[in-house]
Amino acid sequence: MQFSRLRLTGFKSFVDPTDLMISTGLTGVVGPNGCGKSNLLEALRWVMGETRAKAMRGGGMEDVIFAGAASRPARNYAEVSLVIDNQDRVAPAGFNDSDTLEVTRRITRDVGSAYKVNSKDTRARDVQMLFADAATGATSPALVRQGQIAELINAKPQNRRKVLEDAAGIGGLYQRRHEAELK
Ligand code: ATP
Ligand code: MG
Repeated sequence: MQFSRLRLTGFKSFVDPTDLMISTGLTGVVGPNGCGKSNLLEALRWVMGETRAKAMRGGGMEDVIFAGAASRPARNYAEVSLVIDNQDRVAPAGFNDSDTLEVTRRITRDVGSAYKVNSKDTRARDVQMLFADAATGATSPALVRQGQIAELINAKPQNRRKVLEDAAGIGGLYQRRHEAELK
């Protein structure tokens, strides 16, 4: 799954709309402490359906909304959109009728999160599955947080297995089976 553009609006320190173009190969993000490098990675995880505020270094999910600065008032919403090149049709059924997919998540104060795929309202779960099936996603081992390696070393075997399942792209399958068993 090739990501081609990440756009942030009112997300953490990125108050004005900011585009990050992602080409094939390695992309490096460099800059001084506190300039927002980690926020970029968090935006990527967030648009893929992250539900844990702690993984976003916040107390609550609304903490991702620009909180204001001396010269700028706080925002009422945060939005992140991710453009995916889907020419190879790796997306699951239902998302495969176009060459590009634009996944958008917006959180509004006191309202919560809403997702869209190519401007169409989409359930959080379907967005999470879209990425889980492509072996990426909010919990994907492709995104390594600070402290995550130590966590992995100390993890229980079941939790370590979950990391391997996510890496293999079968996390979505297990989740569907679990839901089917509950029905
Ligand atoms: P380092 O090199 O130290 O890891 P970094 O480039 O990864 O730094 P980040 O941690 O991404 O920096 O960015 C931190 C900045 O984001 C801080 O200045 C913090 O105040 C700002 N920030 C985080 N959340 C918000 C928010 N909700 N509203 C406004 N600014 C925010
Ligand atoms: Mg950082």
